[in-house]
Amino acid sequence: MASRNAGPGGHRGHTDAEHLLEERGEGHAKPHFRWPGQAGRIAVTGAEELSALIRPSGFYRQKSARLISFSKAVCSAGGLMALSGDEERAERVLSSISGGVGRETLTSIMLYALNFRRFVVDKYTLRVFSRLGLGDFSRNTRALEDMVLGGEREWTVDELKNYHACIVELAKEHCRKEPVCTGCPLSDACSYAMERMFP
Ligand code: SF4
Repeated sequence: MASRNAGPGGHRGHTDAEHLLEERGEGHAKPHFRWPGQAGRIAVTGAEELSALIRPSGFYRQKSARLISFSKAVCSAGGLMALSGDEERAERVLSSISGGVGRETLTSIMLYALNFRRFVVDKYTLRVFSRLGLGDFSRNTRALEDMVLGGEREWTVDELKNYHACIVELAKEHCRKEPVCTGCPLSDACSYAMERMFP
């Protein structure tokens, strides 16, 4: 690991991990991660240092340990480019990470970082699909993945990324725990909204 005083960008007074989080620009430091693009650097960052940087995200100790494990696994597998060419191998490598990764994390990495055609099922997806009347997939999220990916439409990777982003947006704007159906773009096709209107 580089010295604490001079990071890879040559800035002084920053630790390596701080450099990972520093957005390049007009001198405005706006923190963000560039994982897994910089997996090699995260892999050699100390758990304590990383924990301090991601503290606001909650469960930071567990997350930092997991991030370092992820990064090491990506590096030992030959890096992102090597993984992005082989879907089965990528899934195997990610599944073998110490401490394990959940299905949602796995599919998110497969889709967003490695650009494989995957459908991410999270709590928002389950809530929206269930209220629309498409089924309760909480005990079998793979069935929902299969339903979306096995349908007639050939979703592209970009469409799948956008699909998930739209679900998250909808769940935050309208389909909250207590739904705000007025103005929801799906209200005409939603079982839950229909039942509320015509009990
Ligand atoms: S109409 Fe209501 S319940 Fe249905 S998806 Fe929209 S916010 Fe959710």
